[in-house]
Amino acid sequence: MSNPLDERRQGLEEEYFHRKNQEAIAKLREKMRVAAQAKEAGESSMKCPRCDGTLKEIFIEDVAIDTCDKCAGVWLDSGEMEKLTQTDIARWFRSLWSKMEE
Ligand SMILES: [Zn+2]
Repeated sequence: MSNPLDERRQGLEEEYFHRKNQEAIAKLREKMRVAAQAKEAGESSMKCPRCDGTLKEIFIEDVAIDTCDKCAGVWLDSGEMEKLTQTDIARWFRSLWSKMEE
């Protein structure tokens, strides 16, 4: 037996998360648009989400990651994350560290 109040609450929650999702997608689209523009203009790719450093794309065993030249943050795209799950992760991290120390 379902309670009409619970149903209403659930409906509101779903609406809330739907709206949050839409907002997140809109933000992501905007970010991708900015990145595409920067690429077209020949500017170095993207700004670091954490500081005002610039992200530089490097390849570690075929997985592209973005590293920040200022805070040494490492950023992964979802597709790259998926590639990582099919990789020997310990070896991959050793490759990453040695690359970062260059
Ligand atoms: Zn940074």
